[in-house]
Amino acid sequence: MYLDRSVETLKGVGPLAVKRLARLKITTVGELLNHYPRRYDDFSNIIPIRSMRPGLVTFRAEVVAIANRRARSRRLSITEAILTDETGTVKVVWFNQPYLTRSFPPGKRVLVSGKLEFKNSDLALQSPAIEEDNGDPKHTARIVPIYPETEGLTSKQLRGFIMPLLHRARELPETLPAEILKAGKLAPFGEALTEIHAPSSRQKLEQARRRFAFEELFYVIAASLIIKSEIKTEQAPVIPLDADVAKKFTAAQDFDLTDAQRKAAWQILQDMSGERPMNRLLEGDVGSGKTAVAALAATMAMAGGLQAALMVPTEILAKQHFARLTPLLKRLGYQTVLLVGSQTAKAKQEANKQLASGTAHLTIGTHALLSEGVSFANLGLVIIDEQHRFGVSQRQTLKTKAGCLPHLLSMTATPIPRSLALTVYGDLDISVIDEMPPGRKSVATKLVEPDKRDSAYKFIDTQLARGRQMFVVCPLIEDSHVLEAKSVTAEAERLAKGPFKHRRIGVVHGRLKPAERDAVMGRFADGKLDILVATSVIEVGVDIPNASIMLVEGAERFGLAALHQLRGRIGRGTHSSYCLLFTGTEGGDAFRRLQALERTQDGFRLAQIDLELRGPGEIYGQKQHGILDLRLADLSDTKLVASVRNITADFVAEPQAMLQYPIVLERINRLKAMTSLD
Ligand code: ADP
Ligand code: MG
Repeated sequence: MYLDRSVETLKGVGPLAVKRLARLKITTVGELLNHYPRRYDDFSNIIPIRSMRPGLVTFRAEVVAIANRRARSRRLSITEAILTDETGTVKVVWFNQPYLTRSFPPGKRVLVSGKLEFKNSDLALQSPAIEEDNGDPKHTARIVPIYPETEGLTSKQLRGFIMPLLHRARELPETLPAEILKAGKLAPFGEALTEIHAPSSRQKLEQARRRFAFEELFYVIAASLIIKSEIKTEQAPVIPLDADVAKKFTAAQDFDLTDAQRKAAWQILQDMSGERPMNRLLEGDVGSGKTAVAALAATMAMAGGLQAALMVPTEILAKQHFARLTPLLKRLGYQTVLLVGSQTAKAKQEANKQLASGTAHLTIGTHALLSEGVSFANLGLVIIDEQHRFGVSQRQTLKTKAGCLPHLLSMTATPIPRSLALTVYGDLDISVIDEMPPGRKSVATKLVEPDKRDSAYKFIDTQLARGRQMFVVCPLIEDSHVLEAKSVTAEAERLAKGPFKHRRIGVVHGRLKPAERDAVMGRFADGKLDILVATSVIEVGVDIPNASIMLVEGAERFGLAALHQLRGRIGRGTHSSYCLLFTGTEGGDAFRRLQALERTQDGFRLAQIDLELRGPGEIYGQKQHGILDLRLADLSDTKLVASVRNITADFVAEPQAMLQYPIVLERINRLKAMTSLD
């Protein structure tokens, strides 16, 4: 079929258009057809000229007269036309389209759609769409699609490229299984594609949109449900739930678990006592005490004679966990080893030896844990911190290392709203810690407009003078570590020359080598720096109780959930803590969005607001992974999500049925591979 053909081969698409289409990531016919309209103008109602009122209008008319003239400013050419029907006459004006006089000479029958407005107390129709009345209108007299555009490529041109292709849309292969079409009462692919680009009615358009929304959700949900069922067929090491072990663990800690921690721990321990691998996500706001729960799970595994591994995204975090957990676990009689990339070859070798022989019970490290040289005597539980889940390839590696699939626990501080839990995270069971340990202080949060900068700096300096420390986070620059590093360095210099001349300032960014970055973080942690200027990499995990101020530059560029995570880096000590969000703008939508942070400390609530305002890809930063390529599906449409989930669950429960649909299988497999986030 012609979907893979280059757009070059289409009539009317010249080299310039090819270039411009590429800017919209369109190179093939399939991608062009996949370019859905952003919205529609409903010009379907044709009315007599006499009964036109201000607003969107469409009428059928004959050209009486048409002529070009130059405006006073020489550059502007004006085309004026008089159009008439049986009921009246109307004057129409266009700018810089002198060729219209040739296309629509007097006597021509035309269709015109546009916006009738009052101009100098006269009703006027400026620059309407006009085309010959030949029974097959593209730009007038119908529901007209408006596309995402790019410079030099208008919706009108895109319609010109796309509409002729639709005559053959019904020959295109169906992309959903027949069972799904039937159960969901969905329009077939070809019809839906035609209706989304060239709606024949509002109702048909709605059906088309529903079909594609359903399709997007179907694939994401099918992939996650299949992963879930595949994990259920694996054999896991059984870790008996021993209440005495839990009691001893609690006694060895200097605090009692909160009720929420206890409940989550219970769910985890239950899972691990089964023969099937656990695949659970532990979700809890920054500081809610996920590590303690993970440590209890690890202790249970070790008491059952198995090893556990805790994997974290950065070395500094690994070292921090190592420093905290080692003494606790030692009291309980277990041996912990660190395994990170920057260790000497000798240290690594020693750690490896202990893991392979089983003398070490818990290992804490970065992705180095998954590297080839590392083998385990009897790995039973793997915990991954600050990442959403294990990818397919990670699971495979772990299976090889452990001999069977170990129990898997992911931990995240990013709240997962229910609709996401049912779709993208449908393969995971979820436990939530929805309560903070006692005595936690809230962080005073304030939006700072450009003109309040100086007074904010003064306030900060009084805090630094008392021995507190500050994080400064520079604006997010997507896709460029180089630019981001530059902006961090420039900001540090600006602060060092101006408001904080007398303070010690360090920088960390993604261009530093891990060892350099750890060294700077270490100096900040030891109080040898007053200010740390950074990119949002500090988002993850670190715990520096004396740092009580978080200053975010260009806050409007961040999502609420990301800002909330940054805010979670402070307020960990006994000092009053302040999160200052510097914005480049006053007022406006972005500003109002950020005000939610002043009002609430509830990460779950903030993620929900983010989801509604900005969509899931923005929050979870996975756009590039394509998992969340939901263009028409609205995750806040819980009814649709629930319905798709039910229908999809029935379908994937019959693997035989799926084999009949190679197109479907291939797409699901692609999505399954993509769930790896590393
Ligand atoms: P998270 O990983 O969820 O951000 P941590 O596990 O690092 O949170 O815990 C944050 C801090 O709270 C740690 O210093 C930890 O010792 C402490 N903490 C955890 N649970 C409790 C509890 N139940 N009571 C008191 N303090 C706790
Ligand atoms: Mg943590």
